[in-house]
Amino acid sequence: MVSLGIDAGSTTIKIIGIDKNKKIVFEKIENTEPDIDKQVKRLLKNIKISEIKIVVTGYGSNLIKFATKKVTEITCHATGAFYYFKKGGTLIDIGGQDSKVVIISDNGKVLDFTMNDKCAAGTGRFLENIAWRLKIPVERMGDIALNSEKEVNISSTCAVFAESEVISMLARGEELEAVIKGLHRALVKRIGAMANSLNIFPPLILSGGVSKNKAIQRMLKEELGFNILIPENPQIIGAYGAAILGIDRI
Ligand code: ADP
Repeated sequence: MVSLGIDAGSTTIKIIGIDKNKKIVFEKIENTEPDIDKQVKRLLKNIKISEIKIVVTGYGSNLIKFATKKVTEITCHATGAFYYFKKGGTLIDIGGQDSKVVIISDNGKVLDFTMNDKCAAGTGRFLENIAWRLKIPVERMGDIALNSEKEVNISSTCAVFAESEVISMLARGEELEAVIKGLHRALVKRIGAMANSLNIFPPLILSGGVSKNKAIQRMLKEELGFNILIPENPQIIGAYGAAILGIDRI
């Protein structure tokens, strides 16, 4: 292993180690703990960190004191996506508390980007809150949405108001599956509007934990009309990009 990338997100911490051929040789993902520096040291306890480049990114990156360097999330995600798929396109990253759209050129440069870290409505938190309220594991929400032909329109754009809207819809007798499908649509519309504020082009590359949700995958493809690329583990793209930036500059 020659380089480690650490993406300290608000929800999860991702650590990726690569060899000199940029092959992933080390991978850890955990929910983010309050003491990030201590958590990372624990996750790396069997690794001689003094001999490797360590590049950090993400919400908690300032808290990791032993890093070689810090790089922005936009650059790390673009680099990770570009090296993973060996092509440019429109990257959409949906995490626990933020979302971003990054346009990547055919040689891996960031052409433009937009980011939302101010409002829960366009992030994983939107589905998580309601899943918690309905006592449904968030990992099941996508399949429930895909099983429904019907879809209920959610009019609230705010995550907090959407939660009350859902509760009153269910009390009125709307089908749970149709309401959940409507929630996915609301999130996808939010992300779609963000993406359409830029000059986007295909392919659509998805990253972040929410990209594991199959309904989100399908609806984003419908919304933007692009072919879609999803890494085997979409959560690690930022950390993979950070690891690459330890050995390379593109
Ligand atoms: P961050 O980088 O902001 O910490 P992540 O990219 O790790 O966030 O994504 C976390 C989000 O992904 C959470 O909102 C979580 O609910 C969601 N998530 C994680 N795994 C899944 C899954 N299998 N299906 C649906 N959502 C998921």
